[in-house]
Amino acid sequence: MVPCRCVRTSESGNLVRAAALQLSPSPPGISDVHLHELEILGEVSLEKERYYLSMQRTWERAEKPEGTKEKGRRRRLRVCVATCNRADYSKLAPIMFGIKAQPENFELEVMVLGSHLIDDYGNTFRMIEQDDFDIGSKLHTIVRGEDEAAMVESVGLALVKLPDVLQRLQPDVLVVHGDRFDALALATAAALMNVRILHLEGGEVSGTIDDSIRHAISKLAHYHACCTRSAEQHLIAMCEDHSRILLTGCPSYDKLLSAHRRDDYMDIIHSWLGDDVKEQDYIVALQHPVTTDIKNSIKIYELMLDALISFNKRTLILFPNIDAGSKEMVRVMRKKGIERHPNFRAVKHVPFEQFIQLVSHAGCMIGNSSCGVREAGAFGTPVINLGTRQTGRETGENVLHVRDADTQNKIYHALELQFGKRYPCSKIYGDGNAVPRILKFLQSIDLDEPLQKTFRFPTVKECISQDIDHILETQSALAVDLGGTNLRVAIVSMKGKIVKKYSQPNPKTYEDRIALILKMCSDAACDAAVNLNCRILGVGISTGGRVNPHKGVILHSTKLIQEWSSVDIRTPVSDTLHLPVWVDNDGNCAALAERKFGHGRGVENFVTVITGTGIGGGIVQHGELVHGSTFCAAELGHIMVSLEGPECSCGSRGCIEAYASGAALQREAKRLHDEDLLLVEGMSLKKDEQVTAAHLISAAHLGNSKAEAMLQTAGAALGMGIVNILHTVNPGLVVLSGILASFYQNPVQQAIRQRALSSAQGIHVVISELEEPALLGAASMVLDYTTRRTY
Ligand SMILES: [Zn+2]
Repeated sequence: MVPCRCVRTSESGNLVRAAALQLSPSPPGISDVHLHELEILGEVSLEKERYYLSMQRTWERAEKPEGTKEKGRRRRLRVCVATCNRADYSKLAPIMFGIKAQPENFELEVMVLGSHLIDDYGNTFRMIEQDDFDIGSKLHTIVRGEDEAAMVESVGLALVKLPDVLQRLQPDVLVVHGDRFDALALATAAALMNVRILHLEGGEVSGTIDDSIRHAISKLAHYHACCTRSAEQHLIAMCEDHSRILLTGCPSYDKLLSAHRRDDYMDIIHSWLGDDVKEQDYIVALQHPVTTDIKNSIKIYELMLDALISFNKRTLILFPNIDAGSKEMVRVMRKKGIERHPNFRAVKHVPFEQFIQLVSHAGCMIGNSSCGVREAGAFGTPVINLGTRQTGRETGENVLHVRDADTQNKIYHALELQFGKRYPCSKIYGDGNAVPRILKFLQSIDLDEPLQKTFRFPTVKECISQDIDHILETQSALAVDLGGTNLRVAIVSMKGKIVKKYSQPNPKTYEDRIALILKMCSDAACDAAVNLNCRILGVGISTGGRVNPHKGVILHSTKLIQEWSSVDIRTPVSDTLHLPVWVDNDGNCAALAERKFGHGRGVENFVTVITGTGIGGGIVQHGELVHGSTFCAAELGHIMVSLEGPECSCGSRGCIEAYASGAALQREAKRLHDEDLLLVEGMSLKKDEQVTAAHLISAAHLGNSKAEAMLQTAGAALGMGIVNILHTVNPGLVVLSGILASFYQNPVQQAIRQRALSSAQGIHVVISELEEPALLGAASMVLDYTTRRTY
């Protein structure tokens, strides 16, 4: 990328020195200056009178607006043309002449900056003075150094100086050309200062860093005068307003097309190539080094010379420009004896006017100059383009590309194909009427129109962030479930979908547990953001024990989770993840899960009883959880149904958890097994297999009457507990969840029928359909509160 810019810089340097050569007969130290393609377009001062007049005539032929009667405009349009170097002046000058020719419509301001004012580059601003333009502003904006950093600093310097000038000139329109860094500074300053910008030659593609600059200027510009049909299409594709894009053609083509027919062209051809040479029976060769690939470009140069020697036609060959690599090329040329070869005429410089005649009447042009690709098409001259230097440039049918010029044969065949042919004159880059079009375009600018640009974006699907499905899928909560056995983290979407789940054994100590929680949460949050495209809104934590949800503190835990009392869990998690954190007891979380995603949706009052290792629950009244005064409401596992009864994890006796929890059933199963009373026919225990509640249930199913009796007791105890709940809070619905839920549904319903008050008889007992009530409940705290924005 960067070296491409180097090509440009030194090209311009060369070009401007070439200009200097023409301005003063013998400037010191530039004896090896060669003609460069852009120079062709730069020779504005020659024939300027003729051009000026023809310009005026062209304009008069064009439809003339009826002055003040034409809608709106009462005063002349004040147009500021800013030129930075000789190359852009060659495109801008025809427009400046045109503007000057219509003083009744336009007021012209000329601003000169960039390399125009640099001595080494030939002080080319003098050309502008010689063309009789008043230069209103001269800005020294070039920071010397000729490298990338100097270029950037030059942009900065221009940006410092431009505001003053623009303020003083107050132009209606600023005309900017092309893709140079100076032009970017101009466009930036004008756009920020609310000056309308007309950009010339936007939308073109060259395949170098210039593209970025050119497109950036297009984005800042309000109006576009472009050269080619595809440039116009590119500007439209870049969302520029079509009504502000005009396909005008290249302004320098106006002159090119009017000037190339000269009566004395044969004299010129004879003077450069010898008296015996005929029209279209000679070759013009012009090959420059490619600074990004010097080695290959020298190789191509060598092959081209070999092919030309074999082809045996009179050839005018120009020395390469002075970019890096050119010395090596000249050595190759000398080695092959080109300068003494009878077929060749090797020259360093041809005056512009004559070069036009030579190219337009050549049998073929070969090399890699942009003149071949761009300008020769206007004459219909066949061109062979070697290598990649012009990749991306739009070309006419007259150009035959030999991109991979790796053999002499290939180039020779290309010469055979192209030499002596004639192509229709290509109008790709212009038809000779660019300037009148641009002037008319300028006149059509309505200064009352809002200055603010509108971009024409293609219709896109309705803004994705407003799409409810998208919100439901991507806005998520991090849910944590701290159980007696496992520590689990999940990413839960707004829809209640568990996007991903992570599980680790719950550590036994406080320190290890906190560290693991923080690590799992951080990893999951990162995974969500990077891999799953989920936006985490907050963290919900479900934990065993009594919880103060307002403070995010676990007040007290039973021995199921050790070292888990008086623990502030919210602060470390919130500090680490920088997210809001909600904490509640696992029974409460199960109820919240039902409220948001399960049977509790739309039910004002309901109770959830969750049976796992222990028994927990949650009470929802008027749509809200009941926490109680010291946060031990809904400790449903510790509803006592007996004055004595088995010992409970809470230290008391006769709690339903001591009868009906998984741990209680396991305890009973073990006891039976120890007495050899558990296993019946059809059951077996592997060696080392742990006895669990499931064995008790299987044994009962297989007719173990002792097991059956125990389960009946458990069911009755739970049922009785639930009857107490019905009589205490009178819910509309009881949701049983946890692994033993389906087992307990019948006994609970039976207990209600037998023992509940008649008013409580009709209350439904349903089994939860949620797979992960604790995780979903934890997530629902986040999803409900963040979307309500009440945190
Ligand atoms: Zn208890």
